[in-house]
Amino acid sequence: MSRIAARIAAIQESATLAVDAKAKALKAAGESVIGFGAGEPDFATPQHIVDAAIAACRDPLLHHYTPTAGLPELREAIAGKTKRDSGLSVSAAQVLVTNGGKHAVYNTFQTLLDPGDEVLLLAPYWTTYPEAITLAGGVPVVIATDETTQFRVTLEQLDVARTIRTKVLLFVSPSNPTGAVYPPEEIEAIGRWASRCGIFVVTDEIYEHLTFGDHVHASMPTLVPDLADACVVLNGVAKTYAMTGWRVGWMIGPPDIVKAATNLQSHSTSNVSNVAQVAALAAVSGDLEAVAEMRAAFERRGRLMHRMLAAIPGVTCLEPQGAFYCFPSFTGLLGKSIGANRPETTLALCEVLLEVAKVAVVPGEAFGAPGYARLSFALSDDDLGEGVRRIAELLSDAR
Ligand code: PMP
Repeated sequence: MSRIAARIAAIQESATLAVDAKAKALKAAGESVIGFGAGEPDFATPQHIVDAAIAACRDPLLHHYTPTAGLPELREAIAGKTKRDSGLSVSAAQVLVTNGGKHAVYNTFQTLLDPGDEVLLLAPYWTTYPEAITLAGGVPVVIATDETTQFRVTLEQLDVARTIRTKVLLFVSPSNPTGAVYPPEEIEAIGRWASRCGIFVVTDEIYEHLTFGDHVHASMPTLVPDLADACVVLNGVAKTYAMTGWRVGWMIGPPDIVKAATNLQSHSTSNVSNVAQVAALAAVSGDLEAVAEMRAAFERRGRLMHRMLAAIPGVTCLEPQGAFYCFPSFTGLLGKSIGANRPETTLALCEVLLEVAKVAVVPGEAFGAPGYARLSFALSDDDLGEGVRRIAELLSDAR
């Protein structure tokens, strides 16, 4: 009998958090490391949100449990915000407030999947998705996409991957890690396909407010009302309001699914911190002024990073359309000598980048996409410029 249960022993450490931890350890040891690993805004949480939380701390009424599904006024505000931002009408009873978006992903798959149920997972994917699916007994069926379609799946690919065991399509736009944003007509076509096939859609909308240029966010269940009974929307305050550390997310879905997920949560985390829920309430019921400022900064930095990366010989890169990541391909450099090293994979290349150039980048292997790497542009302009210059200088040596 092994000490660790098989289903837990099978979980891989989060590669993005591991890269971040390694970079932080080198920094603590006095190295001048630039970290492109973290998937979180570098801004402080807007002041009015912090003020609401401080007031909540001082109110003894808020020192207690909240209902499992969340503060009623927060669930109501999330329903209102969903109508405002996505055009989707839902009731407060369809909202479950969770400990971050990641917890919403976990709850959703625990609630939807029986052993052997297949989930269509579009690669490159966020590292947590396959683990959350597998932990729930599900089987991720990976569909690869690449730059030739700007990392967007086609209906033909979906048709080929579907089997009689397919229960869910997991969809995310804007995407982590690719920065791709699907046009509304493609989202609608995919939603109609899922509805026709009787497949659930789980759509992760956590980057909804971070789109650039002509790219816009569109919500699948709004475009395809027929999905209403078979769609779970995942979201949270982390990326939009620079609130990663507050740990508030939510899932929105049909009442029976939300009720079942609430039962699960009642025996695991009970509820989200009362104070953090009050902060989230201030966030989602406030205006989007601070969000617009942060979005503009991300857009400027994304363009800068893309320009610098695309100028490196052997590197190709899609201009980010949303979120805060560039996802360049390094296949043109693999197998070449870089100083004393000859990395054959992006996993090895990222180690060289960290050890020699002191730059932390997450290898594509973590996202089911070897040959690529993810660089977050949620860091200061100075660090961004210096970090990409270091990469360019090291790679200019490739022979
Ligand atoms: N979905 C996606 C696509 C993400 O990138 C993240 C954060 N990396 C999350 C959900 C979860 O965010 P959080 O748990 O911080 O709310």
